[in-house]
Formats: sequence, C-alpha cells, structure tokens
Amino acid sequence: MAEPRYPLLSLSRLRMGIDGPGVTTLIAGAGCPLRCRWCINEKLLREAPAEPVTARELYERVKIDDLYFRASGGGVCFGGGESLLHADFIRAFRALCPADWLICAETSLAVDPAAVRRAAEAVDRFIVDCKDWDEEIYRRYTGGDGARMKENLRLLLSLVGQERVTVRVPLIPQFNTPEHQARSAAALQALGVTQLDVFEYVIREP
Ligand code: SF4
Repeated sequence: MAEPRYPLLSLSRLRMGIDGPGVTTLIAGAGCPLRCRWCINEKLLREAPAEPVTARELYERVKIDDLYFRASGGGVCFGGGESLLHADFIRAFRALCPADWLICAETSLAVDPAAVRRAAEAVDRFIVDCKDWDEEIYRRYTGGDGARMKENLRLLLSLVGQERVTVRVPLIPQFNTPEHQARSAAALQALGVTQLDVFEYVIREP
C-alpha cells in the first residue's frame, strides 16, 4: 500500500487550551465532504494546492515543540478540513511520534464508519463539531447527512468512551436558535456525552 500523505495547509504552534489540553500544534489539512455555509476557510474544501507530506516529514516539522508537549501534557491536533479523511496518515504519525504526545482530532464525523474505527486506534481525544442534532438544519447548513454523523458519534463513543470525546454544539447564525442548541445538547447528554462545548459561531463575512 502507498505511504499515506497528509495534504498540509498550515501549522499553528504553541496554542494553549484551544485544541485539547496542554500546548498544541494545530495541523490543518485540506479536503472536507461537507459544505458548511460559514466554513472558516473554503480553501480547506479543496485538496489542491495543499502540500502532501509523509508522516516522517510532518514529524520532523513539529518535533521542535517536543519539550512543550511533554511538559504540558499536550501534543498535536489534526484539524481541517476533515481530519478523519486521513485516518491512515494519523495512524502512521502515531506510530512514529513519542508515545506521550497527545493526539487530538477535530472532526465533523462526516466520514465512512471504517475511518472512525481506524482513527479510534490512534487518536487520544476527539473534538466533534456536531453542527445541530436536527437533521434538516444539519442538511441545510452543511449539505450533509445528520443521520450519518449521529451513527458515527454512537460508534465513536462505543469505541473510545465519552471521556475521550468533546462535542461542540454551536449556535449558528441564520440556521439555528438557542432552543435548537439546547435540544442538541440534551440529545447528546442522553447519548452519554459529558463534555460539551456550547458556543456561538462568530461570522466574519468578507
Ligand atoms: S466541516 Fe469544517 S472544513 Fe468542512 S465545510 Fe464545515 S466548516 Fe468547512
């Protein structure tokens, strides 16, 4: 099998308390199956012109912060784009980075369940953006299938347990309301999710 490569867009170093515990380097990658109305960067939706790197090449770039990661209990966070499109790459990276680096993945779970299974074996903490639990709102906002996100979240919880999963529950201007947001949070809690990040998207139109 060909060595997996990651479509690297950018590295953001020395982040604190944003992408998981400790000091973190955010590794942004290209490509996403969703088309959210307020996508933070539509460049992330396209594979090109990202730079494909091997796990070894990426490791050589991020290891400069090894001491910060170890001292703070942090590590790297794969974001995007959709990080779980690159589950095999993350597994390859996990295999060669120090065992005490924390590996996080930001994901919408809009992926094949097989990718969730593969990622569950390599990722320490998942940060899931569920958009909205209402499938019609989800479809209007993302163009994707909310039922699939729910199935994948159930699968993820069964594989790794709720203590390794944080779910972001956004208030999305023009798409949902505080009542929808509260209903989403309640549905997630009923599923066993205990770590919820309830917040509001800040929209910066060009
Ligand atoms: S999931 Fe994230 S990267 Fe993908 S379209 Fe939505 S906001 Fe953009």
